[in-house]
Amino acid sequence: MTTNARLYRAPPDLLAGRNVVVTGAGDGIGKAAALCFAAHGATVVLLGRAQQKLEASYDAIVTAGGPEPIIQVLDLAHATEEHYATLATQIEEQLGCLHGLLHNAALLGPRKPLDQYPLRDWRELMAVNVEAGFMLTRALLPAMRAAPAASVVFTSSGVGRRGKAFWGAYAVSKFAVEGLCQVFADELGSTSAVRVNCINPGATNTSMRRAAYPAETPTRNPEPAGIMPSYLFLMGDASRDVNGQSLDAQGG
Ligand code: NDP
Repeated sequence: MTTNARLYRAPPDLLAGRNVVVTGAGDGIGKAAALCFAAHGATVVLLGRAQQKLEASYDAIVTAGGPEPIIQVLDLAHATEEHYATLATQIEEQLGCLHGLLHNAALLGPRKPLDQYPLRDWRELMAVNVEAGFMLTRALLPAMRAAPAASVVFTSSGVGRRGKAFWGAYAVSKFAVEGLCQVFADELGSTSAVRVNCINPGATNTSMRRAAYPAETPTRNPEPAGIMPSYLFLMGDASRDVNGQSLDAQGG
């Protein structure tokens, strides 16, 4: 099934008439996903902390002829319950219902042994990588239940399946993401048309990858746009019966 996802060829109108939220939509994989979903017809809510980067994604989508996206500036490190509630109300008022939610935003954090890991960094990273996934999914569930079907996609990592030295809070947060995905999937699978899955992008040429592996030749890894088939598979109807799975966007 994962092989099919990596080789998935989406019809051009896969997401026509669908509304999709992408977090971290101003850079890296999130920007590529936002542009790709819009190119397949989706109205994308571009969520991130940097207005200028989101405007660049907005401009790229409009220039390419995609549906006009919506910008939502939110710093997930400091978002409160009220921020999530306001966001949900605005999305319901603007779009009515929501067909997709890609939790992509994340922090890498310091690369240090856990016994030297600063608590402040731990807490900030957990807020962005874990708490935001919980709070945003919860807040947007009514809008997703209002759609005929909806897909929630969490972003995992290889170090969220096998812990590695010096990956600190990042690795722990990705284990938590896998757990969030499984619990939501189990709860929603039998009670709603909302499916919940994880995707591990694999090594991809972004600023996060370059920061994690400064000695690596960046071009040895695919560009974000090159790993989109699995994202389209999970966001579109081809994955209608897939729930609680953790897929790899790359690999043999
Ligand atoms: P980037 O660092 O390029 O992008 C991360 C995105 O998250 C940016 O848009 C960033 O915003 C956003 N973000 C960070 N902090 C916050 C915050 N407080 N509030 C709102 N948005 C925030 O990384 P990638 O594109 O590489 O990563 C995307 C996802 O893929 C992540 O979940 C990552 O863990 C995962 N991943 C990536 C791999 C890779 O090789 N690239 C491998 C495995 C997993 P801003 O632009 O303002 O900084």
